[in-house]
Amino acid sequence: MTHTDYIKLMLNIKDDNVYFYENCLEIVNINGKNTKVFNAFLTYIPKCCPKCGCINEGHDDIINWGFKRNCHIKLTKVCGYDTILSLDKQRFKCKHCNRTFIASTSIVDFHKQISNDTNLNIKLELMQKGTEKDIARRNNVSTNHVNRVLDSISEDKLVKNNGFLPEVLGIDEFKATKDTKSKMALIIVDQVRANIFDINNSRLSKDIESYFNMYPKKERDKVKFITIDLYKPYYKLLKRIFKNAILIPDRFHIDLQVRDALDNTRKKLCIKSNPNYRKLKKYWKLILKNEDELSEKKQYSKCFKKEVSQIDIVTYLINTDEEFYNTYQVYQGIIKAIDTRDKDKFLNIIHHHDKNISKYMKKALKTFRNMEKYIVNAFDYEYSNGRTEGMNNLIKQIKHTACGYRKFKHLKARVMLIKGLLNPIKAY
Ligand SMILES: [Zn+2]
Repeated sequence: MTHTDYIKLMLNIKDDNVYFYENCLEIVNINGKNTKVFNAFLTYIPKCCPKCGCINEGHDDIINWGFKRNCHIKLTKVCGYDTILSLDKQRFKCKHCNRTFIASTSIVDFHKQISNDTNLNIKLELMQKGTEKDIARRNNVSTNHVNRVLDSISEDKLVKNNGFLPEVLGIDEFKATKDTKSKMALIIVDQVRANIFDINNSRLSKDIESYFNMYPKKERDKVKFITIDLYKPYYKLLKRIFKNAILIPDRFHIDLQVRDALDNTRKKLCIKSNPNYRKLKKYWKLILKNEDELSEKKQYSKCFKKEVSQIDIVTYLINTDEEFYNTYQVYQGIIKAIDTRDKDKFLNIIHHHDKNISKYMKKALKTFRNMEKYIVNAFDYEYSNGRTEGMNNLIKQIKHTACGYRKFKHLKARVMLIKGLLNPIKAY
């Protein structure tokens, strides 16, 4: 092997037309950093003129016309050092059109200074967790460049999974980037594989409809279950799109409704003139806790000025107001019914509850009665969004990832890359 062959093997350069000079390696200080600079030249006999298209058959067609010197190309790091290929590119002149052109190489795209290998490496790193800033630093490029790479990936095809839909879908909203319509984005989960199916930048009905209508009717008809938030307009819409699907309200969101109702009831009591103001403010978490999980262990409390247990505290607070007491009982009944999947208990509460409960809880129970035919599905079927660990983690992860993004398409590309739903190497 010649020394050119060795160096090319080391730098992963596969272009046959690149040749390294004798003594080709220098260490140069660039922007305060020691950088390895490899000097090489690029030459070959061009097949034709890219300007006029004439075929090159000899010296009467195309001739060598000097070099374009020192074209800097950023390579991937070598032993932790920033590495640059300083390439002298052969210039050619076409005798037919009298114009000149410069030799091209597979190391780098035309007019670009960052090698294709570096870009590939950036793509691979984008598939792992980690900030764009770190990726930029590791690859000796700007954060803007990493964003441009992300841009090129995010222009992926719209229809996922070759147009096949999973049999069990989960749909949820999450707060995404500022450029999403109505500030919320939609996450569609493949419940069979417990992975993201897609994320969409709008939760508006018309956008959801046009999104799913990209999939053939035959596929939509195959969807058996969909778990979703307790938001009535969605149900009408999804029934229209997926005519065979059973819609299951998410148990987590049922919990959330009564939780908010009880908390709002507490907040209403939390006024300065109430002698228990400070206690009600401080112990909000205990009030929302499942009463069976409250501790009996006594501890000194500053508010009560004596030793009290969690049970003592809650018992005291709910007995300060009759409406609050009744609302608390409804709340405990509902969360336990959901927990133990006791459908009869749940239905009994929503239809025969005490009349003296807060307006917030009345409203929540009314919502449940209005959607009763769907809510029973949450008791009859296993599927749910919020309670499955995987789903929770997914949304958390997305939100976490979303923090640094202003553009939805970047957020989406990154999530799809990290979850292994996009293969940038194939797309490349
Ligand atoms: Zn020409």
